[in-house]
Amino acid sequence: MKKLYTHENRLIVFNLKNLLEEQGISCFIENEFSSSGAGVLAPVETWPEIWVSEDYQFEKAEKIITEMLRIKTHGVDWICSICSESNSENFNICWKCNSPVPEINK
Ligand SMILES: [Zn+2]
Repeated sequence: MKKLYTHENRLIVFNLKNLLEEQGISCFIENEFSSSGAGVLAPVETWPEIWVSEDYQFEKAEKIITEMLRIKTHGVDWICSICSESNSENFNICWKCNSPVPEINK
């Protein structure tokens, strides 16, 4: 098992985990429930973490996550046209409903 990624925003972590699983990567989340302090920035140690279960999949998982995080390297956050949720500019699909980025934001 290897730790792949961590971020203070658990929604981002969960979204990435879902995308990895769609790609056949066996992974799980650590610290899932520990960063719930209301309005308080959690220390890095309590950020949710994505772990890859199988070491042989780690390299592939790393490539997938790097690709996803560099798809949009500039610009602003975007609003989902389906559910109106705001999304990080790093995402190419809505974290909430999995809709693709609206054309206007591409
Ligand atoms: Zn959406």
